[in-house]
Amino acid sequence: MKITGVETYILQGLLQDKAFGWSQRVTDRRQTALCVVSTDDGIQGLGEAFYYATPAKIVAHLISDGYAPLLIGRDPLDNAVIWDFLYNWTRDQGMKGLPISALSAIDIALWDIKGKALGLPVYKLLGGAYRNKAHVYATGLYQPQNVPSIEDALVEEALGYKEDGFFAMKLKVGYGIETDMRYVKAVREAIGNDIVLMVDANHAYNAVEAIRLAKEMEKYDVYWLEEPVPPEDIEGYIEVKQKSNILIAGGEDEFTRYGFRELIARRAVDILQPDLCAAGGFTEMMNIVAMASAWNVPLAPHVWGTNVGLAASLQLFAVLPHFPERRYPADPFFEYDRSPHPLREGVTEERFEMSDGYLDIPQRPGLGVSLDMDFVRKHAL
Ligand code: CA
Repeated sequence: MKITGVETYILQGLLQDKAFGWSQRVTDRRQTALCVVSTDDGIQGLGEAFYYATPAKIVAHLISDGYAPLLIGRDPLDNAVIWDFLYNWTRDQGMKGLPISALSAIDIALWDIKGKALGLPVYKLLGGAYRNKAHVYATGLYQPQNVPSIEDALVEEALGYKEDGFFAMKLKVGYGIETDMRYVKAVREAIGNDIVLMVDANHAYNAVEAIRLAKEMEKYDVYWLEEPVPPEDIEGYIEVKQKSNILIAGGEDEFTRYGFRELIARRAVDILQPDLCAAGGFTEMMNIVAMASAWNVPLAPHVWGTNVGLAASLQLFAVLPHFPERRYPADPFFEYDRSPHPLREGVTEERFEMSDGYLDIPQRPGLGVSLDMDFVRKHAL
């Protein structure tokens, strides 16, 4: 089999009155970059690149102008060889960030091709499923815009997740400790003590501030504090982790086995959160998972895209080992983004339905989803 083409699609959906904010900025739109890798025997593979704050066209150009010409004529089943080749191609200026997101989308597409060629879901090719469904927590509770009371809006949203059957939810913090504490108190008191509550600062603090926040939040039974400090501040992570009674999570802004080597080997986090669509795709994620396993640091993967990235992340989630193996192993958490996203579901023919707090892991070949091309073309920039 040979790769014959790589198409990229940059999609945008405007949020209208659903613009939302977090500790870094406010967004009025969602974008995504999808890629479709075609082969000479007619199989196509899908991938999605994670980007956060940049226009999706930057990562799409890295795929179409940077990597695509290097892929034509290669055997898509040579995923690991291709990964190393592409990584080395941009290594000098592309060790982290968007080049790796672009590479992730391509790698995901190659695994989709491999699964379709062999008639098996990706998780089977990665070693088999530890689980066939994912216990999902709601990511949401961003700062809504133009509402009379943010706290009232957060409470209403949180009660909605409880009503929907979520066992856990994640609240955005990082607005200053006083504001954070008002939000945490309001949400915890609204949802009661039986729901797991996590918070995410999106690296808004220095270590001293983050330690103070963690101490003040203890009485509200916060399960983890995510991205307390900037991703480059590994010493800060270690300091916060040592002085906090709340678990420290992080890793969505880290890339490849080389980046994760630091977070893992220095024991900078309690819970590792690599994003499949950013950290390097399936090929590299399996390297990261192996390292995490060797250091016994559990993973709760970061997931924040459309149904393409969601389907791919579910395939990876199936193969996450136990940290550690035991008679009654812990059920890992799967991130289910519930923030406004006009493109999330429409891009695929398939829909994901939560049932009793779980999402099923797709059993069809490859990622288990197919693009709705009418929808894709309608929203393409
Ligand atoms: Ca996050």
